[in-house]
Amino acid sequence: MTILDGKALSEQLIDSVKEKAEKLKPKLAVILVGENPASMAYVRNKKKACERSGIEYVEYNFSTSITQEEILKKIDELNKDETVNGLIVQLPLPDHIYVPDVIRAVTPEKDVDGFHAYNIGKMFLSPEFEDLPPATPLGIVKLLDHYNIPIQGKEVVVVGHSNIVGKPISMMMLNRNATVTTCHIYTKDLSAHTKRADILIVAVGKENLITADMVKDGVIVVDVGMNRNSKGKLCGDVDYPNVSKKASYITPVPGGVGPMTVAALILNTIRATERQRNI
Ligand code: NAP
Repeated sequence: MTILDGKALSEQLIDSVKEKAEKLKPKLAVILVGENPASMAYVRNKKKACERSGIEYVEYNFSTSITQEEILKKIDELNKDETVNGLIVQLPLPDHIYVPDVIRAVTPEKDVDGFHAYNIGKMFLSPEFEDLPPATPLGIVKLLDHYNIPIQGKEVVVVGHSNIVGKPISMMMLNRNATVTTCHIYTKDLSAHTKRADILIVAVGKENLITADMVKDGVIVVDVGMNRNSKGKLCGDVDYPNVSKKASYITPVPGGVGPMTVAALILNTIRATERQRNI
């Protein structure tokens, strides 16, 4: 069994853009609303990755009392600011803010999270049009590619159909000629699907959702989930100690998909900057 070491690859990828960053001098702007500890930790990691790669990082902090109008005004200002190349609004947002309007407001050229309908829509065409794919799916593809894991012709089962992970990773796998099954809360017999998987990608947010009896020998497992167990320890959606005994490759949590998401954000920021300058 091989551990898919997202932490090591993430560091390599972040270091690999240093030269480009020095030439391009890109800037990433991050909007953070409130003090959600998980969001603050994610944003801290993004800041660290920017510092390591040489991307300028600027953060705008707002209290949870910010109105929808105020947040849209800030986005508009940053869209127009020519010194800003990438712009992300850290999710989740307070309930009174309508997230689809916020996502729509970020100009697609600076949408380095890859959440805008324009960037998502382009992914439906072919891999060549995956200009700014959502960061987590891009990180997963980079991780599989790094370990020379073939995707073409494989049975890929994705559990979870969110707009930011499940749906776009399903499309990216289809773009690479896998046979893709996307499961969700209404899937009748989850384990009938997961047992068929050559590559199993799980993005749900439920500790121990995937147990060893639900996978076949030699399965490749990508665990996107981020949960806290009863002891407060970070864990994924997969029963790692038991599933890893049957897997040929598996991502750990932490140290798998999480750091790859940050690396993908850095890659997207460089890509966005290059496209803005017609490089
Ligand atoms: P989400 O929007 O909550 O989506 C969860 C998905 O799982 C939904 O499609 C849901 O279906 C489905 N689901 C729920 N219970 C299920 C069950 N028992 N069986 C099968 N499917 C089920 O979550 P997300 O944003 O995609 O995130 C998923 C997890 O990944 C979370 O733990 C999150 O923290 C983590 N995450 C990690 C990273 C990273 O960088 N490592 C990045 C993003 C997310 P319905 O919608 O029909 O209920």
